Parts: sequence; C-alpha cells; structure tokens
Amino acid sequence: MAKENARVIDGKAVAAKVRAEVAWRAAAFARKFGRAPGLHVILVGDDPASQVYVRNKEKAAREAGIAGVAHRLPADTPEDDIVALVRRLNADDTVDGILVQLPLPAGNSEQRVLDQLDPAKDVDGLHPVNAGLLVSGRKALVPCTPQGCMRLIAETGVSLVGARAVVVGRSNLVGKPVAQLLLREHATVTMAHSRTRELDALCRTADVLVVAVGKAQLIKGSWVKPGAVVIDVGINRNDQGKLIGDVEFDSACEVASAITPVPGGVGPMTIACLLSNTVDAAESRRKQG
Ligand code: NAD
Repeated sequence: MAKENARVIDGKAVAAKVRAEVAWRAAAFARKFGRAPGLHVILVGDDPASQVYVRNKEKAAREAGIAGVAHRLPADTPEDDIVALVRRLNADDTVDGILVQLPLPAGNSEQRVLDQLDPAKDVDGLHPVNAGLLVSGRKALVPCTPQGCMRLIAETGVSLVGARAVVVGRSNLVGKPVAQLLLREHATVTMAHSRTRELDALCRTADVLVVAVGKAQLIKGSWVKPGAVVIDVGINRNDQGKLIGDVEFDSACEVASAITPVPGGVGPMTIACLLSNTVDAAESRRKQG
C-alpha cells in the first residue's frame, strides 16, 4: 500500500494572514487615537541570536504599522537600571507592549525584571499575573509561541474536544501555556518532560502532539499515532548547520495527518502573535483607561 504523506502546515502563510489582520487593526487604532500602538523591546548585551530576533521584531512591527522601539543596553548594565527602564516604560502612556528579550546576561535575575512589568503591557505573557489568569481560564496576555501553535492546530480543522493531546516540554514559555490552551479547548492533556517514563508509548496515544524540547529529532516517526496532528516547536541545528526540529520530519510525515515543518512552521507565528498581542494590549488599555 502506498504511504500517504501528512499535510505540511504552512506557518509562513498563516503568519502572513495574522500580520495582515494586525496591520488592519493597528491602522484602525491609529485613526481612532492619533498614534500607532507602541511596542518596546529591551535588549541587554550582544548575544548574536537575540540581536537577530530583535531586528526581526522591529522590522515586523514597522511593516504592521506598529511603532517599534528597541532599547539596546550594554551587557554590564546594572540590574537596577534595567528595572528602572521597565518602570519608566510602564508609566509611559504611548507604550502599549514591553518585551524583555531573554536570556538576560548571566548575573541578572530574569524573574525580578519580568515581575516589574505592568501585566497589561506584558506582551510576552510571562508575568505571573498573566500566567495565573491563563490557568484560571480568564482573559490574559498569552505567550506568543503557544498562541501560534493553537492557530496552526486550528488551521488543520481537527476537533480538540475530547482529543488526547500530549505536550512534550514544560517550560513557562511554551510547554505549560500550550497545555493550558489545549485544556481550554477541551482536550485531555498530558504533559511530558525530561523525567517522563516511556515517552514513546505516551506519544503514540496523542491525537495532537506538541513538542517543545530543543533536542534534534528526539521524537521518531514510529512514536507518532497514525493520523495525529504534530506541532514541532523545537529549533536545532544539525551538523551541516541546517535548522531542524525536535521531530524526525520525514518518518513522521508518513504517519501524521498534518505536521509543521522547521523552519517555516511555528517560528513565523511567534512574531505574528507578538504583534497581535501588542494591538490587543493597546486596545484593552484604551478600554480600561
Ligand atoms: P526549555 O529548555 O525551557 O524547556 C525544554 C523542556 O524540554 C523542559 O521542560 C524539559 O523537561 C524538556 N525535556 C528536556 N529533555 C527531554 C527529553 N529527553 N524528553 C522529554 N522532555 C525533555 O525550552 P523552551 O524555551 O520551551 O524551548 C523548547 C524548544 O523550542 C527550543 O528548541 C527552542 O529553541 C524552541 N522555541 C521555538 C520558538 C519558536 O518561535 N519556534 C519559540 C520558543 C522556543
């Protein structure tokens, strides 16, 4: 019998749709309030990957009609000065979204810095108030990558009601919030992590499998349930320097019904959802203000 290949979910195309919606909403906001929504990114130090991410965020914001400002601080900036900048941005009414690019240079407490953010401007959704609101099923600013995963799952048309979902990885940035979002859509969610036993058998139970670990091709095609939807969040480089995911793509394609590629799957959705969170934050602050 000929093997059928999974549908490859085109994250770039879905992200383009989200960005077009954001641009439309940002323009409507600017017409109504006389200024564009404002996104401020704090980058401390000269980590090359972070510099690329911040440049991409600035460019994407500009293209969507969002006023993007990057605050680039030297690596040896005292933590108190970073905190002071966050507080200044909290108090500035033209600032709708604040993002602290992680990781901060060693020696800084990321938790202390993130805790200073005004939760209403926390467009990365990492403040404990937003994390708590999400768990309570209330309106929150939700981390961008998990939102992107949900949008890609929705694109497949799969029903999450009663579906078995397995999330591999339990970070505050991806694993935990994506599990909450799946639960909100009535999936039966199991979270797996580095201490999980018999991960292969667990993955085989998943109608929807979301993997956010950071280990190249950890998940084999033979671990995927036939017909499953597979969302691969991982970003790794192979020996040739090529970007690859946490899932063995070719073999998983032979069993899954739909799968995200790396690159071109979840990645493009993260920035798109950041822009969308910024407009959400701008609109909510105006409604409350
Ligand atoms: P993290 O290091 O904070 O968390 C990794 C998780 O994987 C941990 O919870 C750990 O328990 C689990 N884990 C480690 N080894 C495991 C194993 N052998 N079996 C099962 N679980 C294991 O990472 P993160 O911030 O959640 O990111 C995960 C991956 O997603 C990374 O590759 C990162 O680059 C990528 N990422 C991509 C995007 C994007 O936009 N595409 C955004 C964020 C993160």
